[in-house]
Amino acid sequence: MNKQKSSAQNAKYPDIRRDLERQRAAILNDVGEVLTHRDDLAAFPDVSDQASAEVDQNFSMRIRDRERKLLKKINEALDQMNAGTYGICERCSGDIPYKRLKARPVTTLCIECKTLQEQEEQARG
Ligand SMILES: [Zn+2]
Repeated sequence: MNKQKSSAQNAKYPDIRRDLERQRAAILNDVGEVLTHRDDLAAFPDVSDQASAEVDQNFSMRIRDRERKLLKKINEALDQMNAGTYGICERCSGDIPYKRLKARPVTTLCIECKTLQEQEEQARG
């Protein structure tokens, strides 16, 4: 059941897809290391290390939160590639320039719309 879907869109950004997949693998690898590290801590409970262990845990939780969000964006971008909607600005439906996608593969806005969005956010405070 491996129906290959090879649309023109799918082949449009092969190197960006590769970048995204590499980034995703790196994050999954990092998260795995954090989890392994925490297993180590649990295996050697030491009261004197409790405070620093908590700091470590908060830190790794913050990292994981950020990575989880990025991971979600990467997965969404890959989904969009599969659906043939990748590289289309979600706000004005215009094409996002390749250069921008290459620099920031998880972006969903063209530069104009991103600028507008930032101005709106600043205006809201
Ligand atoms: Zn736009």
